[in-house]
Amino acid sequence: MLMPPFELHRPGTVEEAIALAASLMNAGESFDWVAGGTDVLPNYKWRINPKPHVISLAGVEGAHTLTSSEIGCMVPLSSLTVANGAHPLLAEAAAKVASSLIRKSATVGGNLCLDTRCFWYNQGEDWRRSIDWCHKADCGTGADCRVIPNQNTLCVATYQGDLAPNFMVLGASVVLIGPGGERTLPLEEFYALDGMKKNVLEEGEFLLKVVLPETAHQRTGSYQKLRVRDSWDFPEAGIAASWIEGQPESLAIASTALESIPRLHAEEVSNVLGEEGMDGVALAKAIHKAVKPVNNTALPPRYRRSMVKTLTKRAVKALLGE
Ligand SMILES: Cc1cc2nc3c(=O)[nH]c(=O)nc-3n(C[C@H](O)[C@H](O)[C@H](O)COP(=O)(O)OP(=O)(O)OC[C@H]3O[C@@H](n4cnc5c(N)ncnc54)[C@H](O)[C@@H]3O)c2cc1C
Ligand code: SF4
Repeated sequence: MLMPPFELHRPGTVEEAIALAASLMNAGESFDWVAGGTDVLPNYKWRINPKPHVISLAGVEGAHTLTSSEIGCMVPLSSLTVANGAHPLLAEAAAKVASSLIRKSATVGGNLCLDTRCFWYNQGEDWRRSIDWCHKADCGTGADCRVIPNQNTLCVATYQGDLAPNFMVLGASVVLIGPGGERTLPLEEFYALDGMKKNVLEEGEFLLKVVLPETAHQRTGSYQKLRVRDSWDFPEAGIAASWIEGQPESLAIASTALESIPRLHAEEVSNVLGEEGMDGVALAKAIHKAVKPVNNTALPPRYRRSMVKTLTKRAVKALLGE
């Protein structure tokens, strides 16, 4: 498959990246950010919403920082190891993403900003034309959604990134930067429940880095992932859990691949802790009740949802060392 033509811009600093974005916006030109390109470039080859301009973050100074508390957007997943100072939970999750070859190019920023996925969308152009497109890539036809039919306002494509729930249970924040300035927000507030918008990034803004609080390093964690092939598949369901050992009130659980956003289950966890303590079965039931996957990934939603119970129980057992 041939790559559609686009102009590649390669800023060397954050300021240059923002200025480039602003000038393209002023000129009415659309663009995408590209990091490792492992997701956006295959999508371009499939003619899934390609843009005439692409701004690479690869050469941006300061985007490659990796310390125990700060992770730049361009840090490759293969560098998220305990030896490099990454939290063991992040190292565990990163090692479960795709294949070792992909992890060398794939970045933390690209993983957190990953496009949402859907069986009707992640297909070649001819295939999508044969079903008269879908709302998310409708080629100007006003096509309906194939999952929630008879409407073309809502897209329920699934977020299938692995890192986000793990960062969430460690209390991570993201630093966003763009023409409007810099802002920091908890990762759980970064995502938007909309398969097309995906997150709260404004036009011209990008995710510069992830910041972990001091307490993250007192936490132990576990990430349980359901996928078709262990060798490289996206999560069909994922549960991350962490706590400060011996302190049930510190327990945090987050899920991925079950809706358009990864979700921190703070309310469900707090209710169960208040009523039944750190009980794996009760927590599993509460998380199971909270998620409602739709039929747009490889495995049936009913199975994915039922596996949430198993994954949650496994994650809690791992925390308790059982
Ligand atoms: C065969 C295969 C298997 C895969 N398996 C998995 C898997 O198991 N788990 C998983 O999580 N992912 C998987 N992926 C998806 C992808 O490889 C990873 O999510 C990867 O981390 C994406 O990072 P990237 O740097 O390549 O992103 P890119 O492809 O460069 O970008 C991804 C998206 O994020 C945007 N973006 C990138 N960086 C930024 C930034 N700093 N700020 C704002 N927007 C940004 C881009 O515009 C684009 O929309 C798989 C991919 C393939 C091809
Ligand atoms: S959820 Fe609907 S609109 Fe979104 S990608 Fe899938 S079919 Fe298209």
